[in-house]
Amino acid sequence: MTPLLLTHWVRQEIRELSAYETYDHEGFIKLDAMENPYPWPKLFQQALMEKLHSVAIHRYPDPEARTLKQRIRQVLEVPTDSHILLGNGSDELIQILLQAIAAPNRTVLAPEPGFSMYRIIARGLGLHYVGISLTDPFELDQEAMLQAIEEHQPAAIFLAYPNNPTGNLFDRKSILEILAKSSGVVVLDEAYFPFSGKTFLSELTRYPNLVILRTFSKIGLAGLRLGVLIGEKTFLKELNKIRLPYNINGLTQASADFMLSHQQVLTEQVGQICADRTWLTHQLNMLDNITVYPSEANFILIRPPQGSGERLFNRLKSAGILVKYFREASTVLQDCLRVTIGHPEENRAFLTALSAALSPSTDTG
Ligand SMILES: *Cc1c(COP(=O)(O)O)cnc(C)c1O
Repeated sequence: MTPLLLTHWVRQEIRELSAYETYDHEGFIKLDAMENPYPWPKLFQQALMEKLHSVAIHRYPDPEARTLKQRIRQVLEVPTDSHILLGNGSDELIQILLQAIAAPNRTVLAPEPGFSMYRIIARGLGLHYVGISLTDPFELDQEAMLQAIEEHQPAAIFLAYPNNPTGNLFDRKSILEILAKSSGVVVLDEAYFPFSGKTFLSELTRYPNLVILRTFSKIGLAGLRLGVLIGEKTFLKELNKIRLPYNINGLTQASADFMLSHQQVLTEQVGQICADRTWLTHQLNMLDNITVYPSEANFILIRPPQGSGERLFNRLKSAGILVKYFREASTVLQDCLRVTIGHPEENRAFLTALSAALSPSTDTG
């Protein structure tokens, strides 16, 4: 018997997906992925290594990561009656949540442009996915959102606050109205909370359908992979049943606990990044012909002249600078580039390369 190609067995909805796009960034100034540009100070690195010596690599880690959870509750100021679930990155928590609710004919709803993993994971699990376009520039289209909620009765709604890749905070009242009018779970993805200082944590007790997602990736622990879901106890208990045992590895548990016990290091770095965001926004605003969207996150979205996006992306790349270009984007993001705030030298290098690429004399180059 001729064997079928193995891809035959891969579900149709997965074959239709494209993989999450990443680049080989060797040697580049990396301003494409919202990482914290600052490494951990030398002195702390040594202390961390000391601590890691005591991790028993030959044993499974604590399946409930109790010590780390205690630390996180304290650091994030989680309300006492809310529960938390840890994930191998918040991406994993999105996956666990959607896996728990995935049933035929259920819908996941999110505004667009938004974080692409909501759609990728939902579609991969066979869920319907409905994206609702933001207004110009990038506020929730409340009428369309409410109508879609009415029509599809989504099992889950994702709202990134601030939104990625646009950088803004959606109107708070609109979000509260969505919470009130949804029977499904509403996920407030606060991945960029450290840079915005705005949260829905205090609304958890008022809205039992609200869950909040946080991550330590954007403030300097991207390599450890650690995300947190905060919400109502009985719901999180159900999700916990499908979390893979030991999803937070021993080195991550020990490192994150250590790093979060020296939170002032991270807080200082975040403060610096916010100051540099202000500086870079101001500098970009002085350039001709580009639109700069105000940001509450650690990145800035810019729109260069029509038709120039790909050329600018390539010019920056030749100058050794990697930013995010929305190649397959809908018209709303056409030409847009998203730049992560780097350290001051990196920001200056980006600015110099961008102004050179924008200047008319180099237009044909
Ligand atoms: C980066 C990002 C995530 C994923 O973060 P990890 O914890 O690294 O998986 C989730 N949501 C949004 C909006 C993001 O920008």
